[in-house]
Amino acid sequence: MRRYSAFAIAREAARHHQGWERAWRSPEPRKKYDAIIVGAGGHGLATAYYLGKNHGLKNVAVIEKGWLGGGNTGRNTTIIRSNYLQDPSAAIYEKARSLYETMSQDLNYNVMFSPRGVIMLAQTHHEVRGYQRTAHANQHQGVSTRFISPEEVKKLVPIINLDGPRYPVLGGLWQARGGTARHDAVAWGYARACSDMGMDIIQKCEVTGVRSSNGQVMGVETTKGPIDCDKLGIVVAGHSGVLADMAGFRLPIESVALQALVSEPIKPCMDVVVMANTVHGYMSQSDKGEMVIGGGADGYNNYTQRGSFHHIEETVRALIETFPMISRLKMLRQWGGIVDMTGDRSPIISKTPLGNCFVNCGWGTGGFKAIPGSGWAMAELMAKGESPLAAEFTMNRFKAGRFIDESVAAGVAH
Ligand SMILES: Cc1cc2nc3c(=O)[nH]c(=O)nc-3n(C[C@H](O)[C@H](O)[C@H](O)COP(=O)(O)OP(=O)(O)OC[C@H]3O[C@@H](n4cnc5c(N)ncnc54)[C@H](O)[C@@H]3O)c2cc1C
Repeated sequence: MRRYSAFAIAREAARHHQGWERAWRSPEPRKKYDAIIVGAGGHGLATAYYLGKNHGLKNVAVIEKGWLGGGNTGRNTTIIRSNYLQDPSAAIYEKARSLYETMSQDLNYNVMFSPRGVIMLAQTHHEVRGYQRTAHANQHQGVSTRFISPEEVKKLVPIINLDGPRYPVLGGLWQARGGTARHDAVAWGYARACSDMGMDIIQKCEVTGVRSSNGQVMGVETTKGPIDCDKLGIVVAGHSGVLADMAGFRLPIESVALQALVSEPIKPCMDVVVMANTVHGYMSQSDKGEMVIGGGADGYNNYTQRGSFHHIEETVRALIETFPMISRLKMLRQWGGIVDMTGDRSPIISKTPLGNCFVNCGWGTGGFKAIPGSGWAMAELMAKGESPLAAEFTMNRFKAGRFIDESVAAGVAH
């Protein structure tokens, strides 16, 4: 693979951009791989990448029923932060956040990581207590966050209205090194690096069954025929329950649609990410100038990858109290993705009852930020059978009652 560089741009400019290589190959599947990853979202691709990079396992296929990055990875609102409450969560999200800082250099692909800072507004006394507690926990965990006053919030976000009639702003949890990245680029960057290591990314190929013998995984059935493997990683976000069913076990998750929308582009007016969890909406401004607005999850289980009218109204109505200027914005696009929610709002990165079959799911409304950390941990688990980062996130924790409660950090937010 030719590296991207300033020199390469100059060279291609001189020859009318005729010499760019395809970023990844589109091969037909081989008969057998050492490892198969189902799902070419960010988490699946990152798992494959770290299997190759950290563990030398390169005879790997990533199988995707649609196009790579076309699931939640290409549909999210790109917020990156690591201000979670519990120690195992802070560890994996902070690992991910720190890997984002050098991702463009590691992958030789500009993922446009923008550590512009994230504020989670406290708009009730309950939230003030919750976020102060998180800020204290983060100090012990080595995650740099701070509870800030309403005046500091106003300084960071001049367009905010502190004195809303229902929910005045009482402060906020501020993570200066949080931010955003370009979601597609994360998937594309990992895909290019995986393909360069000789891995096969097989798109438009749906896994329709999991084959096993004597309690061990043998391979998968796909729309392009059977493929054998020694190890299988299931990394399919909203379809985790469907794949688990094929592999013969059940997962404690629910699948629901989560929605977002963007406005028409406007002049720069807000250079941090602001989340208002009480009124249930959050907002950032994209490089193109659009206000990127995230809302809530549907209140019922479904597999619908699209938006619905009532969510636009509910989300925008809620945000107008805190950001009056958006009442005059035209909304351009709205969409949905299917997310998989666990009861304690923490992910599952785990062995399964089927030998050599592993699952990574349950990131719910907030897994984009975790992609590199999750891939790192899942690859370690698949290669070595254990991973310190993933140790607490087993699927058995729900049986044992060892919940990792992140309802404040992840229950509604992203
Ligand atoms: C509207 C919205 C806003 C969000 N905002 C944020 C945010 O701001 N910050 C944040 O951190 N997170 C956010 N998230 C959550 C985040 O997007 C997800 O947690 C994350 O992208 C999950 O990545 P993934 O790789 O696990 O899943 P996906 O990207 O969904 O990839 C899974 C892939 O598996 C494939 N697949 C499924 N079944 C099969 C099969 N049978 N065979 C082959 N392939 C299959 C799918 O086609 C899909 O491409 C948001 C999500 C949504 C929907």
